[in-house]
Amino acid sequence: MRIGVLALHGAVIEHIRTLQAIGVEPVTVRLPEDLEGLSGLILPGGESTTMRKLVARWGLREPIMALAESGAPILGTCAGMIIVAKEIAGGDEPVFPLLDVTVERNAFGRQLDSFETDLEMPIVGDRPVRAIFIRAPIIERVGPGVEVLARLPDQRVVAVRQRNVIAISFHPELAGETRIHRLVATMAAEFAEPREGTTAAGTEPWSLGEAI
Ligand code: GLN
Repeated sequence: MRIGVLALHGAVIEHIRTLQAIGVEPVTVRLPEDLEGLSGLILPGGESTTMRKLVARWGLREPIMALAESGAPILGTCAGMIIVAKEIAGGDEPVFPLLDVTVERNAFGRQLDSFETDLEMPIVGDRPVRAIFIRAPIIERVGPGVEVLARLPDQRVVAVRQRNVIAISFHPELAGETRIHRLVATMAAEFAEPREGTTAAGTEPWSLGEAI
């Protein structure tokens, strides 16, 4: 099973190292053919406007949409979250309109440009997630099919999932946090080899519980 990391720009190497640390083979994705045979894709942080241009230039928009629509897990972190949103506050064109949310870019303003905090994120277990925010976006509208995975203490939404698409405002890969990548790897394994009945009775096949 191989998971790609979109490698046009941004915090690419940290995601590659995190995948290696959990025993998953990473693939750097720069061209449409790099997507072949992938079971999941990570869209890293960086600058979403730059990513938008590079995605268009390298013809990646349609093949990445097709991969997502086939059910492969997609993880967007920070700018990666912005580019999977259906709506970007202020009217920027969406890049991969996969997630029924509205995101606001640079939502923390200058005073709080970057910060670290511990967040409750029950889908990866009881231990809080160490979250690094860097000029981070926030989710200001959550559509009906979208599950909230984490909030800040002031209740603002910073992590969501809609079926196979997970988006988070922060950078787990910069904090040595591997559980979100493990979650994506579990979903990718499930996508690669679907097992009958695993989604029955509302149980999440990729729920990691307490073990990690
Ligand atoms: N501020 C960036 C943007 O709007 C995102 C920052 C990040 O990915 N760390 O695209």
